[in-house]
Amino acid sequence: MRILITEDDASLAEALQFSLKQSGYAVDWVSNGAAADEALKDNVFGLLILDLGLPKLDGFEVLRRLRQRNAALPVLILSGREQPEEKVTGLDLGADDYLAKPFSLNELQARVRALLRRGQGSAAPVISYGELSFDTVQRAASVSGKSLALSAQETSVLEVLLTRFGRVVSKEQLVEQLYSYDHEVSHNAIEVYVHRLRKKLEGAGITVRTQYGRGYLLDYLAR
Ligand code: CA
Repeated sequence: MRILITEDDASLAEALQFSLKQSGYAVDWVSNGAAADEALKDNVFGLLILDLGLPKLDGFEVLRRLRQRNAALPVLILSGREQPEEKVTGLDLGADDYLAKPFSLNELQARVRALLRRGQGSAAPVISYGELSFDTVQRAASVSGKSLALSAQETSVLEVLLTRFGRVVSKEQLVEQLYSYDHEVSHNAIEVYVHRLRKKLEGAGITVRTQYGRGYLLDYLAR
């Protein structure tokens, strides 16, 4: 899952990036509103963390433009502003949640997980198909109750495919979901992760199918 942080306080942005990357998310950071507005047009993010007081374009304007493009992207506003009307304005403009500074990184992480679950159309923390269960809080997979040892990359591939179960995800989409701007990855690497994941899913009753020239999808095995 790829997250965009828009925050002009570099030390806070660094702490957020570090914490979210530790949790396995791909994270991009921009420090002004105009850069956020541009980056959001690419539509590759699963969540936006948005500061309100920003240079070039303030957070409200970034949000207003985002929602005008009809994007359903979950948005978590961070604000140092104390006034309750700021919170109301943010939520009315289409923010999904609001966190006042200072906040704990644990609380931020919990809110991010909740927003991502809702964004994936599932409020439940565990997604199950066949014998496979995926705990979106722990980001841990198990087959028939036995935990599955997956690398960070395999976990991310599985997460993206699971949230679009039965639908084709292109290699390009996988690359974009898995990596930040500064960590480009080849299509070959994606093939390797998918190959390993497919092996590990043996016995789960579901598999990763290759649609040549289109991408991959998770599907039930024929019975
Ligand atoms: Ca700020």
